[in-house]
Amino acid sequence: MSYLALYRKYRPNNFNEIVGQSEITEILKNQIINGKFGHAYLFSGIRGTGKTSTAKILAKTVNCLNLHDGNPCNECEICKEINNESFMDVIEIDAASNNGVDNIRELREHSKYLPSKGKYKVYIIDEVQMLSTGAFNALLKTLEEPSEHVMFILATTEPEKIPVTILSRCQRYDFKRVRLVDMIDRMKFILNDIDVTCDEEVLEQIAIKSDGAMRDALSLLEKVVSKSEGHISLESATKTLGIVEFNDLMKIMTSIVNDHIDEALIVLNNMLSCGISVSSIFNQLLEFLRNITLANVFGETNEIIELSVERQEVLINEFKGVKLMTLQQTIDILNQGIGKLKYAANPRLNLELSLIAISLLFNNESSVQEVEKPISKPAVVEAKKDIQIIETNDRSTEKQEIISRVIDENNGDIFDQWNQILAKVNQKKKIVHAFLIEGVLKKVEDMKITIEYQIGYEFHMENVMQQDNKNTIEKIILEHTGKRYSVDAIMKEEKIVEKDNVEKIKNFLGKEFEEILEIK
Ligand SMILES: [Zn+2]
Repeated sequence: MSYLALYRKYRPNNFNEIVGQSEITEILKNQIINGKFGHAYLFSGIRGTGKTSTAKILAKTVNCLNLHDGNPCNECEICKEINNESFMDVIEIDAASNNGVDNIRELREHSKYLPSKGKYKVYIIDEVQMLSTGAFNALLKTLEEPSEHVMFILATTEPEKIPVTILSRCQRYDFKRVRLVDMIDRMKFILNDIDVTCDEEVLEQIAIKSDGAMRDALSLLEKVVSKSEGHISLESATKTLGIVEFNDLMKIMTSIVNDHIDEALIVLNNMLSCGISVSSIFNQLLEFLRNITLANVFGETNEIIELSVERQEVLINEFKGVKLMTLQQTIDILNQGIGKLKYAANPRLNLELSLIAISLLFNNESSVQEVEKPISKPAVVEAKKDIQIIETNDRSTEKQEIISRVIDENNGDIFDQWNQILAKVNQKKKIVHAFLIEGVLKKVEDMKITIEYQIGYEFHMENVMQQDNKNTIEKIILEHTGKRYSVDAIMKEEKIVEKDNVEKIKNFLGKEFEEILEIK
């Protein structure tokens, strides 16, 4: 297949081919059939929803020599010329680069002459919000004195920037985001036409990623088609497009709900290793949370939720117990994370911290600090003795030997019991466990336990050293061994870093999150 962008090749040629805007195209067709169309239109909506295509079809329709039920024939001389962009009486203007008052004055003069060939001169002004104030005033004058043979079609992605005086002179149509199901149908049609097969889920993923913009969907489809050899598999599409699989998002959220942030972070790591960008994951998580929220609100499948019925059922079953307030706060956290991405020195950390914050939100009760209880186990009394020996008798040789022996025993204790200690940490605080297991128990000396981290795990190390977490670990070790050790963490090159990560997390999340935790 020679290279021709799909969205050009499959550009709609009549109203029926415009995807997902049938409410608008039906009205326009009716106006044409009844010969009662306006002389100024404003098409607004996000990019890629068919505004310019509809404008061109409307221009073609008012000039076509052989209309079919309100649609242009695409076969007459005029339709053909318009399709080839060689028709003199359809004039497209990009307001982004022709936004001055002189451009519009010139247009005004030009519009006074009769059409050269067609019935109507049609001016399509794209991104009309870019016009200067002077240019808008000049345009207003033109609209106020409409000529019988002239039609204006203004297109904009930002209708709120259009002066009211202009709006009041136009028939306005708001183009919606194209629904998933409509996009998928169109893509299926195209793939069938070019004889390429595709895993069902690929089209759904492309549609989600395009967020209602048909043109974007076709560009993405183009990308995966160009890398396919007759069949597009989900696996190859995921790689090409950086799409996050539903199951991965599901795994992240269920891990968080079940207080297994460690597992969520592992899934995240795998996604990032596949080359999926942090912002893409953020956005897809946000979309996923939207779907969970809607599934929760409806409690049953609904076409507003842009997912297959099977997936909606999975979401409903899995998250039915979650409070709407919690979901809303989760969305807030994601939005905050996305908002801060632009200035983030380490976007990945932003994402990880957001997930941790969400986990704290979901599992807040278990993260409440426990009140210190009096310790009465005999082993602990023994431990206190040990410590006294170490602290007070360090000058005597005889005692030194005892101390060494005690330390050796201690070391044995810790290395042997490390896995049990980790398990206890996991029971008490899963997040701390997640940070702790990434390090290696390096040495035990002078009642100090040192955990060593590889380069790249600074974040985990810093979290272990964060005072609350450090206290938790030390307390568990005390309970388990009966001995009061301090915990230290180092990087592999022996660089000791001790930073207050709570402050870091607080700074990252901002005041809103502190409030969220307090509400909870
Ligand atoms: Zn025609």
